[in-house]
Amino acid sequence: MKKVALFPGSFDPFTKGHEDIVLRGLKIFDEIIIAIGFNSQKKRYFDLDMMLEKINSCFVGYDNIRVDKYSELTATYANNHGAQYLLRGLRNTTDFEYENSIAMVNKDLYNGLETVFLITSPKFAFISSTIIREVHNYGGDVSKYIPYTL
Ligand code: ADP
Repeated sequence: MKKVALFPGSFDPFTKGHEDIVLRGLKIFDEIIIAIGFNSQKKRYFDLDMMLEKINSCFVGYDNIRVDKYSELTATYANNHGAQYLLRGLRNTTDFEYENSIAMVNKDLYNGLETVFLITSPKFAFISSTIIREVHNYGGDVSKYIPYTL
């Protein structure tokens, strides 16, 4: 059976750290769905559809990567789209604490939905969407941290 992983996230914005997780994930999975989770009540910093296009532009030529957006339970989305795995990245113990509990609840919701974690590549360990938003908001150059041009 084809191994399909869902890489869910806010991706506000998608970073080189995220791209690295996807590309490394391709060594494990046959197909990866990158899905931007959104909540119509929560305002994003970068426009959702703009980000979807930017992410798509990073993976032109990869027929095993799809990009989508969703506003339901991540586990439900995975189940409805044939993903048997969730792919997530880990940078530090703060990520671990958070990821640990979501992985458990996702497995509880859909028995068999396994979360696979890839440890960040050291050169991207300090990159976070929050820091990029902050730098960008104050007019700083974020081009080094993102795999596309804004
Ligand atoms: P969420 O809002 O769901 O946490 P994010 O877009 O912030 O979504 O992150 C999506 C996933 O990517 C998370 O598992 C996060 O830990 C991981 N991630 C974020 N930045 C990096 C990075 N620099 N290196 C590795 N993983 C990362």
